[in-house]
Amino acid sequence: MTPFTFAKARTEREALDLVHQPNTVFIAGGTTLLDLMKLNVQTPARLIDINGLPLDKIEVEADGSLRVGAMVRNSDLAHHPKVQKSFPVLAEALLSGASPQLRNMATTGGNLMQRTRCYYFRDPIYACNKRRPGSGCAALEGFNRIHAVLGGSDQCIATHPSDMAVALVALEAVVHISRGKGERSVPIEEFHVLPGNTPHIETVLQPGELITHVTVPASNFAARSAYVKLRDRASYEFALSSAAAALDLQGNQIRSARLALGGVATKPWRSPEGERVLTGAAAVEETFHAAADAAMQGAVPHKHNAYKIELAKRAIVRALIQAAQKGESRV
Ligand code: SF4
Repeated sequence: MTPFTFAKARTEREALDLVHQPNTVFIAGGTTLLDLMKLNVQTPARLIDINGLPLDKIEVEADGSLRVGAMVRNSDLAHHPKVQKSFPVLAEALLSGASPQLRNMATTGGNLMQRTRCYYFRDPIYACNKRRPGSGCAALEGFNRIHAVLGGSDQCIATHPSDMAVALVALEAVVHISRGKGERSVPIEEFHVLPGNTPHIETVLQPGELITHVTVPASNFAARSAYVKLRDRASYEFALSSAAAALDLQGNQIRSARLALGGVATKPWRSPEGERVLTGAAAVEETFHAAADAAMQGAVPHKHNAYKIELAKRAIVRALIQAAQKGESRV
Protein backbone atom coordinates (compact mmCIF):
# COMPACT_ATOMS: atom_id res chain seq x y z
CA MET A 1 0.00 0.00 0.00
CA THR A 2 1.24 3.48 -0.84
CA PRO A 3 1.96 5.57 2.30
CA PHE A 4 -0.66 8.16 3.21
CA THR A 5 -1.45 10.59 6.00
CA PHE A 6 -4.62 10.55 8.05
CA ALA A 7 -6.63 13.33 9.69
CA LYS A 8 -9.93 13.30 11.55
CA ALA A 9 -12.52 15.96 10.77
CA ARG A 10 -14.80 16.95 13.63
CA THR A 11 -17.09 19.28 11.71
CA GLU A 12 -18.40 19.60 8.19
CA ARG A 13 -16.46 22.85 7.77
CA GLU A 14 -13.23 21.20 8.87
CA ALA A 15 -13.80 18.26 6.51
CA LEU A 16 -14.36 20.58 3.54
CA ASP A 17 -11.27 22.63 4.40
CA LEU A 18 -9.05 19.55 4.74
CA VAL A 19 -10.19 17.85 1.55
CA HIS A 20 -9.06 20.80 -0.59
CA GLN A 21 -5.45 19.58 -0.45
CA PRO A 22 -4.17 17.62 -3.47
CA ASN A 23 -4.86 13.88 -3.78
CA THR A 24 -7.02 13.90 -0.65
CA VAL A 25 -10.17 11.85 -0.19
CA PHE A 26 -12.77 11.29 2.50
CA ILE A 27 -12.96 7.96 4.26
CA ALA A 28 -16.20 6.85 5.91
CA GLY A 29 -16.83 3.11 6.43
CA GLY A 30 -13.84 2.33 4.22
CA THR A 31 -15.42 -0.83 2.85
CA THR A 32 -14.47 0.00 -0.73
CA LEU A 33 -11.63 2.47 -0.39
CA LEU A 34 -9.35 0.38 1.83
CA ASP A 35 -9.61 -2.60 -0.52
CA LEU A 36 -8.70 -0.43 -3.49
CA MET A 37 -5.77 1.10 -1.61
CA LYS A 38 -4.43 -2.34 -0.75
CA LEU A 39 -4.70 -3.26 -4.44
CA ASN A 40 -2.91 -0.01 -5.45
CA VAL A 41 -5.93 0.93 -7.54
CA GLN A 42 -6.49 4.09 -5.50
CA THR A 43 -3.42 5.77 -4.01
CA PRO A 44 -4.54 8.87 -2.09
CA ALA A 45 -1.86 10.87 -0.29
CA ARG A 46 -4.23 11.91 2.50
CA LEU A 47 -7.35 10.46 4.07
CA ILE A 48 -9.85 12.64 5.89
CA ASP A 49 -11.85 10.56 8.33
CA ILE A 50 -15.45 11.81 8.44
CA ASN A 51 -16.79 9.19 10.86
CA GLY A 52 -17.05 11.83 13.58
CA LEU A 53 -19.36 14.14 11.64
CA PRO A 54 -22.91 14.47 12.99
CA LEU A 55 -24.47 13.04 9.82
CA ASP A 56 -25.71 9.75 11.28
CA LYS A 57 -29.42 10.43 11.82
CA ILE A 58 -32.48 8.97 10.13
CA GLU A 59 -35.35 11.45 10.41
CA VAL A 60 -38.97 10.91 9.42
CA GLU A 61 -40.50 14.19 8.29
CA ALA A 62 -44.12 15.21 8.94
CA ASP A 63 -45.12 14.32 5.36
CA GLY A 64 -43.73 10.80 5.70
CA SER A 65 -40.55 11.42 3.73
CA LEU A 66 -37.13 10.33 5.00
CA ARG A 67 -33.98 12.31 5.63
CA VAL A 68 -31.00 9.98 5.84
CA GLY A 69 -27.63 11.31 6.97
CA ALA A 70 -24.65 10.41 4.80
CA MET A 71 -23.00 8.59 7.72
CA VAL A 72 -26.00 6.38 8.52
CA ARG A 73 -24.79 2.78 8.38
CA ASN A 74 -26.45 0.47 5.88
CA SER A 75 -27.64 -1.91 8.62
CA ASP A 76 -29.23 0.91 10.64
CA LEU A 77 -31.10 2.14 7.58
CA ALA A 78 -32.22 -1.35 6.57
CA HIS A 79 -33.62 -2.12 10.02
CA HIS A 80 -35.27 1.26 10.66
CA PRO A 81 -39.00 0.61 11.30
CA LYS A 82 -40.13 3.34 8.90
CA VAL A 83 -37.94 2.02 6.10
CA GLN A 84 -39.16 -1.54 6.66
CA LYS A 85 -42.79 -0.44 6.69
CA SER A 86 -43.01 2.32 4.11
CA PHE A 87 -40.00 1.82 1.82
CA PRO A 88 -39.53 -1.98 1.71
CA VAL A 89 -37.59 -1.90 -1.56
CA LEU A 90 -34.88 0.08 0.21
CA ALA A 91 -34.68 -2.30 3.17
CA GLU A 92 -34.59 -5.33 0.87
CA ALA A 93 -31.90 -3.83 -1.35
CA LEU A 94 -29.71 -2.94 1.62
CA LEU A 95 -30.08 -6.37 3.21
CA SER A 96 -29.17 -8.06 -0.07
CA GLY A 97 -25.83 -6.25 -0.13
CA ALA A 98 -22.48 -7.54 1.10
CA SER A 99 -22.44 -9.19 4.55
CA PRO A 100 -23.75 -8.16 8.00
CA GLN A 101 -20.26 -7.05 9.04
CA LEU A 102 -19.83 -4.87 5.96
CA ARG A 103 -23.33 -3.43 6.30
CA ASN A 104 -22.48 -2.42 9.87
CA MET A 105 -19.61 -0.31 8.52
CA ALA A 106 -20.80 0.86 5.08
CA THR A 107 -22.48 4.26 5.02
CA THR A 108 -25.22 5.80 2.92
CA GLY A 109 -22.85 8.28 1.29
CA GLY A 110 -20.13 5.68 0.77
CA ASN A 111 -22.58 3.26 -0.81
CA LEU A 112 -23.40 5.85 -3.46
CA MET A 113 -19.68 6.34 -4.14
CA GLN A 114 -18.61 2.69 -4.31
CA ARG A 115 -16.55 1.66 -7.31
CA THR A 116 -17.17 -1.05 -9.85
CA ARG A 117 -16.32 -4.71 -9.29
CA CYS A 118 -14.86 -5.03 -12.82
CA TYR A 119 -11.91 -7.35 -12.19
CA TYR A 120 -9.75 -5.52 -14.75
CA PHE A 121 -10.31 -2.25 -12.89
CA ARG A 122 -9.23 -3.89 -9.65
CA ASP A 123 -5.98 -5.32 -11.04
CA PRO A 124 -3.44 -2.68 -12.14
CA ILE A 125 -1.72 -5.01 -14.63
CA TYR A 126 -4.68 -4.65 -17.02
CA ALA A 127 -5.63 -1.78 -19.31
CA CYS A 128 -8.52 0.16 -17.82
CA ASN A 129 -9.82 3.55 -18.93
CA LYS A 130 -11.57 4.02 -15.62
CA ARG A 131 -8.40 3.51 -13.57
CA ARG A 132 -6.01 5.11 -16.10
CA PRO A 133 -7.79 7.25 -18.73
CA GLY A 134 -6.70 6.46 -22.27
CA SER A 135 -5.12 3.09 -21.43
CA GLY A 136 -7.86 0.98 -23.05
CA CYS A 137 -10.46 -1.43 -21.75
CA ALA A 138 -9.48 -5.04 -21.13
CA ALA A 139 -13.10 -6.04 -20.63
CA LEU A 140 -14.37 -5.15 -24.09
CA GLU A 141 -12.54 -8.07 -25.71
CA GLY A 142 -11.87 -9.97 -22.49
CA PHE A 143 -14.00 -12.01 -20.12
CA ASN A 144 -17.02 -9.76 -19.73
CA ARG A 145 -19.52 -12.06 -18.04
CA ILE A 146 -20.27 -9.60 -15.22
CA HIS A 147 -20.33 -6.48 -17.37
CA ALA A 148 -23.07 -4.11 -18.51
CA VAL A 149 -25.56 -4.56 -21.33
CA LEU A 150 -27.08 -1.10 -20.81
CA GLY A 151 -25.37 2.29 -20.75
CA GLY A 152 -21.94 1.13 -21.92
CA SER A 153 -19.58 2.91 -24.30
CA ASP A 154 -16.56 1.92 -26.39
CA GLN A 155 -14.47 3.09 -23.42
CA CYS A 156 -16.07 1.18 -20.53
CA ILE A 157 -18.79 -1.38 -19.85
CA ALA A 158 -18.37 -1.74 -16.09
CA THR A 159 -21.51 -2.13 -14.00
CA HIS A 160 -22.32 0.00 -11.00
CA PRO A 161 -22.25 -2.30 -7.94
CA SER A 162 -24.73 -0.67 -5.55
CA ASP A 163 -28.03 -2.29 -4.57
CA MET A 164 -29.10 0.62 -2.37
CA ALA A 165 -28.74 3.14 -5.19
CA VAL A 166 -31.04 1.08 -7.44
CA ALA A 167 -33.78 1.18 -4.81
CA LEU A 168 -33.22 4.91 -4.29
CA VAL A 169 -33.61 5.50 -8.04
CA ALA A 170 -36.96 3.71 -7.96
CA LEU A 171 -37.96 5.85 -4.96
CA GLU A 172 -36.84 9.09 -6.67
CA ALA A 173 -34.47 10.04 -3.85
CA VAL A 174 -32.44 13.24 -3.86
CA VAL A 175 -28.75 13.54 -2.92
CA HIS A 176 -27.79 16.64 -0.94
CA ILE A 177 -24.26 17.98 -1.30
CA SER A 178 -22.32 20.57 0.68
CA ARG A 179 -19.56 22.53 -1.02
CA GLY A 180 -18.53 24.97 1.63
CA LYS A 181 -20.24 27.96 0.07
CA GLY A 182 -23.77 26.60 0.09
CA GLU A 183 -25.42 23.36 -0.85
CA ARG A 184 -26.92 21.74 -3.89
CA SER A 185 -29.38 18.93 -4.42
CA VAL A 186 -29.22 16.36 -7.21
CA PRO A 187 -31.95 13.85 -8.11
CA ILE A 188 -30.31 10.46 -7.68
CA GLU A 189 -31.03 9.56 -11.28
CA GLU A 190 -28.64 12.37 -12.27
CA PHE A 191 -26.04 11.70 -9.57
CA HIS A 192 -24.29 8.83 -11.38
CA VAL A 193 -23.19 9.47 -14.95
CA LEU A 194 -22.69 7.28 -18.01
CA PRO A 195 -19.09 6.36 -18.88
CA GLY A 196 -19.08 7.87 -22.39
CA ASN A 197 -15.55 9.07 -23.16
CA THR A 198 -14.76 9.74 -19.50
CA PRO A 199 -15.33 6.51 -17.55
CA HIS A 200 -13.09 7.75 -14.72
CA ILE A 201 -15.86 10.27 -13.90
CA GLU A 202 -18.62 8.32 -12.18
CA THR A 203 -20.76 10.92 -10.43
CA VAL A 204 -21.51 14.65 -10.56
CA LEU A 205 -19.79 15.10 -7.19
CA GLN A 206 -16.99 17.65 -7.66
CA PRO A 207 -13.64 17.69 -5.84
CA GLY A 208 -14.09 19.40 -2.49
CA GLU A 209 -17.78 18.47 -2.17
CA LEU A 210 -19.33 16.33 0.56
CA ILE A 211 -22.56 14.32 0.48
CA THR A 212 -24.45 15.35 3.63
CA HIS A 213 -27.73 13.47 3.36
CA VAL A 214 -30.24 11.78 1.09
CA THR A 215 -33.96 12.51 1.11
CA VAL A 216 -36.53 9.94 0.08
CA PRO A 217 -39.95 11.44 -0.71
CA ALA A 218 -43.21 9.96 0.49
CA SER A 219 -45.16 8.60 -2.48
CA ASN A 220 -48.12 6.46 -3.41
CA PHE A 221 -45.85 3.74 -4.78
CA ALA A 222 -43.14 3.41 -2.10
CA ALA A 223 -44.95 0.95 0.17
CA ARG A 224 -45.81 -1.51 -2.60
CA SER A 225 -42.22 -2.03 -3.61
CA ALA A 226 -39.76 -4.89 -3.82
CA TYR A 227 -36.13 -5.64 -4.69
CA VAL A 228 -35.02 -8.84 -6.40
CA LYS A 229 -31.34 -9.62 -6.76
CA LEU A 230 -29.96 -12.49 -8.85
CA ARG A 231 -26.34 -13.48 -8.30
CA ASP A 232 -23.89 -16.36 -8.34
CA ARG A 233 -24.35 -17.20 -4.66
CA ALA A 234 -27.04 -16.32 -2.15
CA SER A 235 -25.01 -14.04 0.10
CA TYR A 236 -21.99 -11.71 0.09
CA GLU A 237 -22.16 -11.31 -3.67
CA PHE A 238 -22.83 -8.56 -6.17
CA ALA A 239 -25.80 -8.61 -8.53
CA LEU A 240 -25.61 -10.12 -11.97
CA SER A 241 -29.01 -8.59 -12.36
CA SER A 242 -31.39 -6.88 -9.98
CA ALA A 243 -34.67 -5.02 -10.16
CA ALA A 244 -36.38 -2.51 -7.90
CA ALA A 245 -40.10 -2.20 -8.58
CA ALA A 246 -42.69 0.07 -7.00
CA LEU A 247 -46.39 0.18 -7.85
CA ASP A 248 -49.29 2.47 -7.09
CA LEU A 249 -52.38 0.32 -7.58
CA GLN A 250 -56.07 1.10 -7.74
CA GLY A 251 -57.68 -2.27 -7.47
CA ASN A 252 -55.80 -4.28 -10.04
CA GLN A 253 -54.92 -1.31 -12.21
CA ILE A 254 -51.49 0.30 -12.09
CA ARG A 255 -51.86 4.04 -11.54
CA SER A 256 -48.11 4.62 -11.66
CA ALA A 257 -44.96 2.54 -11.50
CA ARG A 258 -41.26 2.91 -10.90
CA LEU A 259 -38.73 0.45 -12.23
CA ALA A 260 -34.95 0.50 -11.79
CA LEU A 261 -32.27 -2.06 -12.61
CA GLY A 262 -28.93 -3.04 -11.13
CA GLY A 263 -26.12 -5.37 -12.20
CA VAL A 264 -26.80 -4.86 -15.90
CA ALA A 265 -25.99 -1.19 -16.43
CA THR A 266 -23.13 1.25 -16.02
CA LYS A 267 -25.16 3.25 -13.48
CA PRO A 268 -28.21 2.55 -11.33
CA TRP A 269 -30.67 2.34 -14.22
CA ARG A 270 -34.17 3.69 -14.32
CA SER A 271 -36.39 2.27 -17.03
CA PRO A 272 -38.93 4.77 -18.37
CA GLU A 273 -39.67 2.25 -21.15
CA GLY A 274 -40.78 -0.34 -18.62
CA GLU A 275 -42.70 2.22 -16.56
CA ARG A 276 -44.64 3.34 -19.65
CA VAL A 277 -45.84 -0.21 -20.30
CA LEU A 278 -46.92 -0.60 -16.68
CA THR A 279 -48.77 2.70 -16.25
CA GLY A 280 -52.50 2.28 -16.73
CA ALA A 281 -52.26 -1.47 -17.36
CA ALA A 282 -53.57 -4.35 -15.28
CA ALA A 283 -51.19 -5.68 -12.65
CA VAL A 284 -50.92 -9.14 -14.18
CA GLU A 285 -47.96 -11.26 -15.25
CA GLU A 286 -48.59 -10.56 -18.91
CA THR A 287 -48.10 -6.83 -18.25
CA PHE A 288 -44.99 -7.50 -16.20
CA HIS A 289 -43.42 -9.57 -19.00
CA ALA A 290 -44.20 -6.81 -21.50
CA ALA A 291 -42.57 -4.25 -19.19
CA ALA A 292 -39.50 -6.46 -18.84
CA ASP A 293 -39.22 -6.81 -22.62
CA ALA A 294 -39.49 -3.03 -23.01
CA ALA A 295 -36.92 -2.38 -20.27
CA MET A 296 -34.33 -4.58 -21.96
CA GLN A 297 -35.06 -3.64 -25.56
CA GLY A 298 -32.01 -1.39 -25.84
CA ALA A 299 -29.60 -3.90 -24.29
CA VAL A 300 -26.29 -4.48 -26.08
CA PRO A 301 -24.71 -7.82 -25.16
CA HIS A 302 -21.01 -8.62 -25.29
CA LYS A 303 -19.31 -11.95 -25.88
CA HIS A 304 -19.91 -13.45 -22.44
CA ASN A 305 -22.90 -11.61 -21.01
CA ALA A 306 -25.87 -12.05 -23.36
CA TYR A 307 -27.46 -14.22 -20.65
CA LYS A 308 -27.98 -11.06 -18.59
CA ILE A 309 -30.79 -9.87 -20.84
CA GLU A 310 -33.02 -12.83 -19.99
CA LEU A 311 -31.82 -12.78 -16.37
CA ALA A 312 -32.78 -9.11 -16.03
CA LYS A 313 -36.23 -9.80 -17.46
CA ARG A 314 -36.79 -12.51 -14.86
CA ALA A 315 -35.66 -10.20 -12.06
CA ILE A 316 -38.04 -7.50 -13.29
CA VAL A 317 -41.05 -9.83 -13.50
CA ARG A 318 -40.34 -11.30 -10.08
CA ALA A 319 -39.89 -7.86 -8.49
CA LEU A 320 -43.15 -6.64 -10.01
CA ILE A 321 -45.02 -9.72 -8.77
CA GLN A 322 -43.62 -9.24 -5.27
CA ALA A 323 -44.42 -5.52 -5.27
CA ALA A 324 -48.00 -6.13 -6.42
CA GLN A 325 -48.52 -8.66 -3.64
CA LYS A 326 -47.72 -6.13 -0.94
CA GLY A 327 -50.43 -4.30 0.99
CA GLU A 328 -52.09 -0.92 0.62
CA SER A 329 -50.08 2.27 0.90
CA ARG A 330 -48.43 2.38 4.30
CA VAL A 331 -46.79 5.78 4.01
FE1 SF4 B 1 -11.88 -0.52 -16.88
FE2 SF4 B 1 -14.41 -0.11 -17.46
FE3 SF4 B 1 -12.97 -1.58 -19.07
FE4 SF4 B 1 -13.57 -2.51 -16.62
S1 SF4 B 1 -15.02 -2.11 -18.27
S2 SF4 B 1 -11.57 -2.58 -17.69
S3 SF4 B 1 -13.62 -0.61 -15.47
S4 SF4 B 1 -12.63 0.59 -18.62
